Amino acid sequence: MKFVIASSNLHKVREMRSMLKEFSTIEFLSLRDFPDYVPPEETGETFKENAEIKAIHAAKHLDCVAIGDDSGLVVPALNGEPGVYSARYAGAHANDQENREKLIAKLKSLPIEKRIGYFECCIAIATKDGIKKSVCGNCEGELLDTPRGSQGFGYDPIFLKHNYRKTFAELESDTKNRISHRRKALDKVEPTLYSLSR
Ligand code: IMP
Repeated sequence: MKFVIASSNLHKVREMRSMLKEFSTIEFLSLRDFPDYVPPEETGETFKENAEIKAIHAAKHLDCVAIGDDSGLVVPALNGEPGVYSARYAGAHANDQENREKLIAKLKSLPIEKRIGYFECCIAIATKDGIKKSVCGNCEGELLDTPRGSQGFGYDPIFLKHNYRKTFAELESDTKNRISHRRKALDKVEPTLYSLSR
């Protein structure tokens, strides 16, 4: 059986495949397997809306069970930035480093005790009949103004998990995948994935 992770972000897809490996009867494809697929615009104002837009569009156009993930970093002291604009914070074609640099410049204007944020991940499961399940998970941490570590992606090098004293980019991927926002959201959709795989 084939389900599609409605993303072409290889980091995200790799993390999700690793966390879903106990679903041995399901092959998790990604949008990289469908080079002609044109993704929808992410017009939602929340991660949840965007995850649902991605899942519904992929399920309809690829005629399969689709898993939409929309995620990002939220800094309450910066009015929620970068939020749903996490991937394009420094501009439509900005890369991870440019996005981090923009955020670091803003963090420097905050007192240390306000340099706190959380990753949020919303996951929606859709079939061609519509949304079957839609959930979110969060993971809080301190934000650094100097990147540390070389694993992971996005804002991982400046996201410090206080109880480990390591950034997400310094943690082993297995450890990140046990405690992350994506793990928390995936935990909530696993029963739906099981029932759709039967
Ligand atoms: P999306 O693909 O539109 O959901 O954008 C996700 C963006 O949020 C990524 O490009 C990263 O900048 C950020 N992001 C989401 N999840 C993570 C994570 O686990 N670590 C670091 N950055 C993340």
